[in-house]
Amino acid sequence: MERRVRTRIAPSPTGDPHVGTAYIALFNLAFAYKNGGDFILRIEDTDQNRYIEGSEQMIFDSLKWLGLDYAEGPDLGGKYGPYRQSERFDIYGEYAEKLVEKGEAYYCFCTQERLEKLRDRQKAMGKAPGYDGHCRSLTQEEIKAKLEAGEPYVIRLKMPYEGETVIKDRLRGDIVFENNKIDDQVLLKADGFPTYHLANVVDDYLMGITHVIRAEEWIASTPKHIQLYKAFGWQEPEFIHMPLLRNSDRTKISKRKNPVSLNWYREEGYLKEGIVNFLGLMGYSFGENKEIFTLDEFKENFDIDKVSLGGPVFDLVKLGWVNNQHMKMKDLKELTELALPFFVKAGLIKEEISEKEFETISRVVELLREGSQTLKELVSQSEVYFKDEYSLPVVTDETDKKEIKGIERLYSVIQDETGKRAIKLFKEKIKECNEEISVDEAKALLQSTLDEIGEGPGKVYMPLRAVLTGLPKGADLYNLVSIIGRDRVLARMERMIEQYNI
Ligand code: GLU
Repeated sequence: MERRVRTRIAPSPTGDPHVGTAYIALFNLAFAYKNGGDFILRIEDTDQNRYIEGSEQMIFDSLKWLGLDYAEGPDLGGKYGPYRQSERFDIYGEYAEKLVEKGEAYYCFCTQERLEKLRDRQKAMGKAPGYDGHCRSLTQEEIKAKLEAGEPYVIRLKMPYEGETVIKDRLRGDIVFENNKIDDQVLLKADGFPTYHLANVVDDYLMGITHVIRAEEWIASTPKHIQLYKAFGWQEPEFIHMPLLRNSDRTKISKRKNPVSLNWYREEGYLKEGIVNFLGLMGYSFGENKEIFTLDEFKENFDIDKVSLGGPVFDLVKLGWVNNQHMKMKDLKELTELALPFFVKAGLIKEEISEKEFETISRVVELLREGSQTLKELVSQSEVYFKDEYSLPVVTDETDKKEIKGIERLYSVIQDETGKRAIKLFKEKIKECNEEISVDEAKALLQSTLDEIGEGPGKVYMPLRAVLTGLPKGADLYNLVSIIGRDRVLARMERMIEQYNI
């Protein structure tokens, strides 16, 4: 009978949730989905030194945020639980002992000191470091005596001295390792803690994992795992090693060169749809040049055999483009809701807003999403719609040379005769309007001001922009006037007229 397909991710809670975790989760999820199976989450927290409080919760939160839903996990439970290795300690000891009984593993009493000397000797002789099998040949009596004397020990796997171990990787073909080059791995440490290899294999087996889809950095561990499956007499899962994510210089993705924390992407205001889509492009091509897709489309389309191994580059420029596409596709109300905390954080709106304010904000979002890669960037361009009090920029020692001219122009255009006339005329026109001004009405008002003054747009719109925004360029005036409405337009103009004696 075919086994039900089960895949998993097994992250360690050692810090901020990593983009690589989400990437591997996505491919495991899609594979399970395509095969009518389950995708589960296990937390590998046996390394106490690297454990970071709170990071497990962040893994749950970020997977949920991205919609990478696992069917079983520490926070959800399931019939193969517990899903946290720290809650399964007894199991590992038991299984390590089983291997000792079967003659597949052995107690090793070598002291730290001996191992260090061994390493030094190997180094001096130009040999690869590795355990020399010293305790592998202890007699039953010797072992008994040492145990009775209370000597600390670890349990090691007996690697075959000869032959080869072959990973039959679905994407890479056969990867062959010579057994005599592989160390007798420690399975259980002197303090009774399991190593990654033991805990990982025992759990994958007990949790019914049929396909291990993980990053290529684990390839070196896989022959050890295969030998463990053999030692236990268990059927090994299928191993599939995904290409590593890379920095733009093609080195393994690292936080020195690229943000790797999912929290960072969330705080920058990338959409979950953008992140998931972008991760889906890493090593996978949808076909028909389709680069923009949803999680559901990806799951439907997914075919593990189409994963390509050329190291995918985690390119922020590309991510920005993908995210912008999703910002434009997103339902406007939803996008506005997602943007609200960013506006609050930037100090542009209060936490409690009226329906009317929401409408205004959503118009700003609609306008600015076209040219923004993230919500944070969108908000950073929106100040002009929210701040009614501003002054013209001033030239200081630090002002960029190129900007000085523009700033000087601002002062001159609001003082010259055409500028003054344009400002007065536009103000009179606005006074006659309703509070609500449509974009078309705003356009007509500005156009008629231009016509009546009879000068070029630069001479008319520049002074108007100066009083309405305080800036030499930026915001489209039609939309600005329409979005802020009559009263705020007038208030802005009156304040500036007074301040600059126009
Ligand atoms: N605990 C390992 C990690 O941190 C699991 C690797 C694997 O998938 O086997 O990624």
